[in-house]
Amino acid sequence: MSQSIKPDGPAGTRARRGRPSAAKKLPAPAAPSRERAKLARAVLAAFQKLYPDADCGLGPRDPFGLLVATILSAQCSDARVNQVAPVLLKAYPHPAAMAAATEEDIAAIIRSCGFFRTKAKNIRGASARLVSSFGGETPRSMEDLLTLPGVGRKTANCVRGNAFRLPALTVDTHLGRISRRLGLTRHEDPDKVEADLGELIPEERWTLFSHQGIAHGRALCKSQKPRCDRCPLAAFCPYPSASA
Ligand code: SF4
Repeated sequence: MSQSIKPDGPAGTRARRGRPSAAKKLPAPAAPSRERAKLARAVLAAFQKLYPDADCGLGPRDPFGLLVATILSAQCSDARVNQVAPVLLKAYPHPAAMAAATEEDIAAIIRSCGFFRTKAKNIRGASARLVSSFGGETPRSMEDLLTLPGVGRKTANCVRGNAFRLPALTVDTHLGRISRRLGLTRHEDPDKVEADLGELIPEERWTLFSHQGIAHGRALCKSQKPRCDRCPLAAFCPYPSASA
């Protein structure tokens, strides 16, 4: 099952500007309680049964291609991104070519993805920074990725986890919601959710857990009407409707 991870806000509107926000420290997570640790183990086991093959829904897996696709995916379906990204990447296959294009050139190709002007600006800006600061390569460190226009922790984690195969907890709206319902965190702030999950989930499971959480959020633990009546996690989920 493929899952995509949306970038940080519509068209990367949480983009860091000026001083790199890499300097921003994650909040210290609360010490995991015995109960939360037990819950996390139960969730991991259930997810492994339900979604053993959960994966990123975006096509490109090379770092630059996935970075571009993730920026494109804000408020846009995976299917659409997977149609548009190859066209864009064929026209401008590497950061130098993308940086040399105009925003209008890029926007003309990505128009159907929505928020195309902001996305074109971010894609071109990120490409230019890759050329000017990273020798045309997409960096793998969180700190460096966060210096790119349009890239916040969610996008950076998507690239780290799925292109570089590094442990990465990508907290999108689905993973944040189910983590709260399951009692793994109390926080709304994705950075704080990430910190809490980082204490509870073994690092080697971070990337897969992110995909599994997104899969569960789409399949059963929906925003408006969670299907607790069908959910195997209802056996231990503390969310009120789970035991109704
Ligand atoms: S029991 Fe309900 S609230 Fe809990 S994880 Fe399943 S669908 Fe979500």
